[in-house]
Amino acid sequence: MNNHHVTELEINLTALQHNFTYLKNKANNAKTLAVVKAFAYGLEPIRIATELEKLKVDYFGVAYADEGIELRKNGIKTPILVLHAQIQNYKLLIQHQLEPNLYSLATLKAFIGFAKQHQLKEYPIHLKFNSGLNRLGFNVEETQEVIQLISETNSIKIVSVMSHLAASEDIDEKEFTEQQIVIFNTIVIQLRSKLNDPFVVHMSNTSGTINYPKAHFNMVRLGIGLYGFGNNAKETKQLKNVASLQSTISQIRTIKKGESVSYNRAFTAKKEEKIAIIPIGHADGFSRPLGCGKGHVTIHGKKAYTVGNVCMDMILVNITDIDCKEGDQVIVFNHQETVEEFATICNTISYEILTAISQRVKRIVKC
Ligand SMILES: *Cc1c(COP(=O)(O)O)cnc(C)c1O
Repeated sequence: MNNHHVTELEINLTALQHNFTYLKNKANNAKTLAVVKAFAYGLEPIRIATELEKLKVDYFGVAYADEGIELRKNGIKTPILVLHAQIQNYKLLIQHQLEPNLYSLATLKAFIGFAKQHQLKEYPIHLKFNSGLNRLGFNVEETQEVIQLISETNSIKIVSVMSHLAASEDIDEKEFTEQQIVIFNTIVIQLRSKLNDPFVVHMSNTSGTINYPKAHFNMVRLGIGLYGFGNNAKETKQLKNVASLQSTISQIRTIKKGESVSYNRAFTAKKEEKIAIIPIGHADGFSRPLGCGKGHVTIHGKKAYTVGNVCMDMILVNITDIDCKEGDQVIVFNHQETVEEFATICNTISYEILTAISQRVKRIVKC
């Protein structure tokens, strides 16, 4: 679909480059896996992956097979780990040289069976262990059986072993996180002693990379940090802003005292007010909790707060004290602080604000 929406998400590749280098340095000599799932957190997966490939990222991580296929179709050659590989898609994975993360005895047995059936030899796979998040992963007690299954076949090759931290951003959970690292270490030692494959070990997301050098192992998995968000305000300051969302004023109207605006008449003017209509709504990712004066946009450097309810395709903002005209530029956000502010208002996190920017919004990439 061609995209001529005037509401645009601008992606800054120079900022991405800075963030990648900054986080890579934090991880000392560890390899890097760039997480580009969910359209690279709503940004531009192909351009972002192409840029990171130039910077010699070691691996890409996606959640599902389709996301990896899209990268392959656009010329990405770097190994791709499919974090949430599903049994139904094993065929697609091997057709596109995608590497599955196997996380249960069922998925491991199914892949070994599939690999045998297709006469694969040493197909690269990854193993995920549960160390306390209690999401995907083999349980510690299954380690022996995992070793047994792998020892009996040469259809697959273990290229990495991973786990995932539950609260790496939360310093109050330091003890729990340290415990997760210990548990994972024990599993890794057992696997190393029984398996010949010289696998890579990884456990840290962005905040694990920042907060727990002990959890770097041989590789770190970088997601949100690449896109400009650290695990606290101080770290975020070290990162550059990658995503800026902007629009223009479609119409300006004056509302008389006593008149209401937008759906359900959520706002009634107490005095004469000037309102601007902006072509961005909840279907674009401007979430409804930002309506009724809670969220704002910036016009000519001044904050214009929302008026009334957010609609599907547009918002209304108060411009009574702002000198502006139809067609003028509107900044929704161009700094991480505003995204964090929106996240707080919406009772969510920066991740969701970014990934919620729908595919209807035009993406433009700046070098
Ligand atoms: C999404 C994801 C990451 C990236 O996490 P960030 O906090 O965005 O750095 C890393 N590992 C796994 C398993 C993930 O699902």
